[in-house]
Amino acid sequence: MERLMIVVPAYNEEEALPKTLDILGELVERLIKQKIIDIQSKVVVVNDGSSDNTWTVIEKFNKTNNVITGVNLSRNFGHQSAIIAGLSATLNFGDVFITIDADLQDDVGAIIEMLEAHAKGFDIVYGARNNRDTDTAFKKKSASAFYKIMKKIGVQMIPQVADYRLMSKRSVEHLLTYKEKNLFLRGIVPTIGFPSTTVYYARKEREVGTTKYPLRKMLSFAWEGITSFSVAPMQFVLAMGLVTILVSLFMLAYTVWEYISGETIAGWSSLMVSIWFIGGVQLIGLYVIGEYVGKVFNEVKGRPRFIIQDNLLKNNLDKK
Ligand code: UDP
Ligand code: MG
Repeated sequence: MERLMIVVPAYNEEEALPKTLDILGELVERLIKQKIIDIQSKVVVVNDGSSDNTWTVIEKFNKTNNVITGVNLSRNFGHQSAIIAGLSATLNFGDVFITIDADLQDDVGAIIEMLEAHAKGFDIVYGARNNRDTDTAFKKKSASAFYKIMKKIGVQMIPQVADYRLMSKRSVEHLLTYKEKNLFLRGIVPTIGFPSTTVYYARKEREVGTTKYPLRKMLSFAWEGITSFSVAPMQFVLAMGLVTILVSLFMLAYTVWEYISGETIAGWSSLMVSIWFIGGVQLIGLYVIGEYVGKVFNEVKGRPRFIIQDNLLKNNLDKK
């Protein structure tokens, strides 16, 4: 029987966690009783440097409920790094891993389907939402535009997949060899290969607490996704530069023609326009190059993606 580790990243989730842990805890206990998963299967909550009582809640649950355990990061490292932290902390304790958000917007019922698919031989099982009813029109539109852009630049992403998925031990082992600091998991995981499939579920509204992805963070996450996988933005700037040069050639021809025809008073406005225009193009170009240089800088430093401060797993579990 395989040992399941459910990894739950949590950032300021003291309100949502108690219910989430009750539900996940019950589910794991039921699956253990039905002999579907190993008796030492756990729910592992990763406290991502919360400023509220998330860690206290985790510790309290850990004392009274023996399927619930946790890892405490030293500060906030971000959603994706928290998932990586949870997976690497649990790797040597489990056989099969499921990541799910702490707010339980994703239907936990899909866990059973994921395990069934895994039993049929799939290493990776993506949870995909079959509706976006709970999203605003803006989020729907922007999400679909994002998937289109990603597809265009050659990143295969399974649409409507967030970070709710099952991974086998060997796929997690390989995932952890991707050393990028700014991991964009939903783009990386499909590049691992291995047999994979998708289960569909309905995504609910967040019941308590607030989203940790306000618009600003969502946009920066999307930009991260694009620039982590492709230099297309640089090519776009190149294209813009070429167009600008073409335009200025026309301007040149126009000026010469004006000069020949003797009407040389014009000039100031076209000069100003081109200086500003070209200046703008150059600044954009510099910015995009800076973005990639900054990425290289960040990666080259090779700093840890997360730092674990407390680890309850070690007291709760035997190594596999
Ligand atoms: N999260 C995290 N670290 C962060 C931000 C978010 O661990 O810096 C967790 C959060 O607690 C939740 C999950 O990531 O479990 C997804 O966040 P949220 O539900 O706020 O995102 P949304 O569903 O609104 O996209
Ligand atoms: Mg959520």
